[in-house]
Amino acid sequence: MMDVFSNVRLQLDKIRQVADLSDKEIGLLTSPKRIVDVTFPVKMDDGSVRRFHGFRVQFNDARGPTKGGIRFHPNVDMGEVKSLAFWMALKCAVVDIPYGGAKGGVEVDPKTLSANELERLARGYIKSIFEVIGAEKDIPAPDVYTTPQIMAWMLDEYESIIGKHQPGMITGKPIELGGSLGRGYSTSQGGAYVLKEYLKVIGMEPAGMKVAVQGFGNAGSHIARILHAWGCKVIAVSDSRQGIYDEDGLDIPGVLEHKSRTGELTGFGKAITNSQLLSLPVDILVPAALENQIIKDNAKTINAKIILELANGPVSPEADAALEKEGIVVLPDILANAGGVTVSYFEWVQNLYGYYWSEDEVMEKLSMVMTKSFKDVQVTRQKYATSFRNGAYILAINRILAAERLRGRL
Ligand code: NAD
Repeated sequence: MMDVFSNVRLQLDKIRQVADLSDKEIGLLTSPKRIVDVTFPVKMDDGSVRRFHGFRVQFNDARGPTKGGIRFHPNVDMGEVKSLAFWMALKCAVVDIPYGGAKGGVEVDPKTLSANELERLARGYIKSIFEVIGAEKDIPAPDVYTTPQIMAWMLDEYESIIGKHQPGMITGKPIELGGSLGRGYSTSQGGAYVLKEYLKVIGMEPAGMKVAVQGFGNAGSHIARILHAWGCKVIAVSDSRQGIYDEDGLDIPGVLEHKSRTGELTGFGKAITNSQLLSLPVDILVPAALENQIIKDNAKTINAKIILELANGPVSPEADAALEKEGIVVLPDILANAGGVTVSYFEWVQNLYGYYWSEDEVMEKLSMVMTKSFKDVQVTRQKYATSFRNGAYILAINRILAAERLRGRL
């Protein structure tokens, strides 16, 4: 399998060609501060004990405590977690929130576990990493196949170990346990704000635009809902099992209701494969599943005008170059999906204050952060005459290196 961290190195090589970075700076940017690699036991329902393999990578903490989600997926590996942690450090810097970057993962197919086994797995993972996490050290959150309920079990486990309440140790919690209003759809809402700013720059309106969305979990389902409500024609969506397509636009509220009731996407439009979905002629393609979905081999088949990266790392560096040549604009992950970590930050602030905001307040603040971040990236990309991705990278890297210098670490 492709080592995802090699993508990070390739991306930094590209940045070097545009911005002036020394070997020392590149060395600092590619070296995680801490890597935790654990195995831990989980009692299964049949009484047997299974050992699971998990990771936590804290990439860079120059700007604040590290922050990043936890992924439960069978293909989780160190290269992937390291890359996701690196992207988190950059993402927090792009939106200028006072965090470094981290990521965690457990190699597991959660669909094969019962709810009780999943709870024991979540608790077991926290038991094995609790010393390195905490509201002022490293703050986890949900990612692929982890949910607010899983965050609740993790919070409970952590608090029972340390013997006191500390809701700010994890974000993406249920509202009843100190979660923030709006966190559930914040990644997609943030992406929608970024898209809207870009459309303003090119003098376009979202209404009537054709959209395809890959992945129909947290990020994918909410962006489909938001863009449908804006009058876009969402013509295709997919999850890990199936894709559906309707040239006239899918009934997204109906699809959402059906998927939440049955867990299935079937019953709407025509069946479509994931690779067919990616090559549909659309205005906006939203990869919202996993990394490396648009790679060298299929980049030529992409027929979209704009790619809004809600997933992390969905476009490989080789594919990125091919898309740029074709004039396809990529609104990059570290900007486009930063709404999630931004509202996680708001959740943490509310937890530290013990005082909670209305949903309108959260969305108003999110809109301000995303709009300003888009503009900061736009200014940087114009200054360096480069892509949105390179602009976002340069902006973030300069902010991280400035913090490193001020700390006397560079
Ligand atoms: P999720 O678990 O809620 O949903 C994942 C979705 O992807 C599911 O619908 C699943 O069926 C689908 N999927 C999995 N493999 C697929 C495949 N090969 N082809 C098509 N679909 C596939 O996860 P999520 O939180 O929505 O995360 C999706 C992406 O967004 C990830 O890259 C994640 O890192 C990124 N992201 C999420 C957040 C967040 O707040 N949830 C924030 C930033 C970035």
